[in-house]
Amino acid sequence: MPQTFTGHLGLDHMGTHVPHAFTVPEGVGTLRIRFTHDPAHPGSGDIPHQLSISVYGPNGARGTRHNNADQSPVISTHHASPGYLPGPIEAGDWRVEIDVHRILPPGGVSYRIEVDWDADELPAPDAPPVQTATRNRGEGWYKGDLHGHTLHSDGALTVAEYLDYALERGFDFVALTDHNTTSALPELMARAGEAITILPGEELTTYNGHALVLGTTAWVDWAIRDGQTMAGRAREVTEDGKVFVIAHPKSEGHPFCTGCRWAFADLLPGPARHVEVWNGPWTSCPQNPGGVALFYRWLNEGYRMIATCGTDTHRRAKPDQRHGFNVIRAADNTLPALLDGLRAGESYITSGPLLYAQAISAGESATFGDCLPAGEVTATCVLGDEDMPGDLTLTLIHNGKVIARTPCATGLEHSAVLTAGSGDWITWELRDSDGALHTITNAILFGGEEAWI
Ligand SMILES: [Zn+2]
Ligand SMILES: [Zn+2]
Repeated sequence: MPQTFTGHLGLDHMGTHVPHAFTVPEGVGTLRIRFTHDPAHPGSGDIPHQLSISVYGPNGARGTRHNNADQSPVISTHHASPGYLPGPIEAGDWRVEIDVHRILPPGGVSYRIEVDWDADELPAPDAPPVQTATRNRGEGWYKGDLHGHTLHSDGALTVAEYLDYALERGFDFVALTDHNTTSALPELMARAGEAITILPGEELTTYNGHALVLGTTAWVDWAIRDGQTMAGRAREVTEDGKVFVIAHPKSEGHPFCTGCRWAFADLLPGPARHVEVWNGPWTSCPQNPGGVALFYRWLNEGYRMIATCGTDTHRRAKPDQRHGFNVIRAADNTLPALLDGLRAGESYITSGPLLYAQAISAGESATFGDCLPAGEVTATCVLGDEDMPGDLTLTLIHNGKVIARTPCATGLEHSAVLTAGSGDWITWELRDSDGALHTITNAILFGGEEAWI
């Protein structure tokens, strides 16, 4: 029998999950849910209330479509609305939860949830076309994006458009990290074929910060409920072979981007070792300098942090937006090898210029992410042979302070000698005359593995 739930959400419901339970009988082929609220959009000013629903069946999560105007999912055995997982509509206990990301005064909202079902199964969608190109393979440096969204959450791009956009940018790999759902991954991986490596993922979009889980096709619970901690979630996914990345930690928070600023006291950085220091276009995302500063602060505190970049693509970039991408050294252009390279921190971030760098200490050489003995160090950075913007400066940074600076030129080789103590680290940056970042490397660390947390 159809069921309807109604209620009211006020400011006290912010940051909670409001569950409504229902029981599905045997023989159901398709489930339909419709969530509406009044007022539908405005909270105050131009900032809307932000409410999504999540659906859970007897065997687990069936999806969500975070921050999307369409909150009317249809779920069937072989077909589901974007954000949701197709599969049998099991008889038993189901629930729909309202995820209350943002309520703004005055007055809150009244809501209505209608649940309905029937015995018919919807037809499966046609198999998508598969890319026929073949990606580069073997040991090498690979470039790609670690953060983006489709219309399975709040992106504007279809899965096909998302893939086309990654291929147009010449990427060797691309992650897809829709908010709180993995529902787009099967289609993306099917479409990609051998043309590009897909890093399947999910952005855990909580009320207190966002984190990327890279390397998962299985849904990861984003809700931190009673007795759970985000640090515990980070440990679980890391021990399960995934990479956990603190995303845009210094993003603007409530009310402009509720939940976007990192506020988990147990993950500063706690067990997290990856942090996204470049999110979106550099110049129009004022949180990014704070992300770099946080990365450097954590290195200074002895944490073996690894910096990442994510375009956080929701739609195609405008021509004047300068995004970064990740360059990762991997034993092969495959998911396991790229995750290994990402874990090792053998990577850097750039919006174009390519480089290689190494340090030599006590006769040993190392590159990004590696540890070397403390002592006298020769640090060398070699810029690539492609053209680069004319006003860039290369800086060598030791424990967060610039110790050498030189104008960039194609093919430039810059060496410096420094004395590195145990717990010291170096990185290189390329910045333009406005101070805007174009390239930042991961750190080479000193003092041996035991000097680092
Ligand atoms: Zn985010
Ligand atoms: Zn995102």
